[in-house]
Amino acid sequence: MTPLSIHFLGTGGGRFTMITQRRRTAGIRLVYGRTHVHIDPGPGALVFSNWTRLSPQKLDAIIVTHCHPDHYTDAEVLTEAMSHGTTQRRGILAASRSVLQGNLPCERSISTYHQGLVEAIEELKPGNTFKVGDLRFRAVKAIHSDPDSIGVILEIPELGSIGYTSDTGYFPELGDIYKEVRLLIACTMWPRDQHLHMHLSTDEVLKVIENARPGCVVLTHFGMRMLNADPEAEASFLEECTGVPTVAARDGMQVVLGDNIEVRGSRKRDEPRIIEV
Ligand SMILES: [Zn+2]
Ligand SMILES: [Zn+2]
Repeated sequence: MTPLSIHFLGTGGGRFTMITQRRRTAGIRLVYGRTHVHIDPGPGALVFSNWTRLSPQKLDAIIVTHCHPDHYTDAEVLTEAMSHGTTQRRGILAASRSVLQGNLPCERSISTYHQGLVEAIEELKPGNTFKVGDLRFRAVKAIHSDPDSIGVILEIPELGSIGYTSDTGYFPELGDIYKEVRLLIACTMWPRDQHLHMHLSTDEVLKVIENARPGCVVLTHFGMRMLNADPEAEASFLEECTGVPTVAARDGMQVVLGDNIEVRGSRKRDEPRIIEV
């Protein structure tokens, strides 16, 4: 069985975490065999890919869920890397309509020049699917200030499904959309007892977990208030309430899906957490 490695190159979200870099905003790298995919390459994606020795020239696809800078700023330089310094048309760029074409709140996030460097473009709307090697992705509904925003579900027959909410406000079908995924990556901007319009807080993630009953949850994309409240405490609260193993991501953390789910910290001395699911 080929395991899937999920590298949390950045775990920060929102304007103030981004501009202070209190947490990195480099997004997520998926590695499955020789297939590499970068999701939401915000500021730092290029630097921390190289720093982590995950060369961006290995990328086969870049996914950008919406037109906010903590999700897209490094997408253009990653297309230059994916196309091996613009020498080959290579890879897939999969993104919301706002990112590719612009919409009312934003202009296109990736220039037409850079869109021309890739082999294929996928414009993502809820329900659209696309494949990168053996990885099958499906765009799903999100409700956010960019009306074209999407979440993503990745399906791998031998490993199960992984959901990534991206930025979204809470709506009742969220739990149905991520029903029984093996791993749910929830962008949790704010902590308990606080509500941020068009984003998820701990209380709303609780409702999603109770409905979806995923095998395991990783919280990420933390805003300043979440960092002040302590993401680990929020994760423990959710795990206590729901019984679903819940982890707060850290910059440099790696999650490996195989027979079980192994959470590896960024430091060598960190004991991995093994989750049997
Ligand atoms: Zn964001
Ligand atoms: Zn956003």
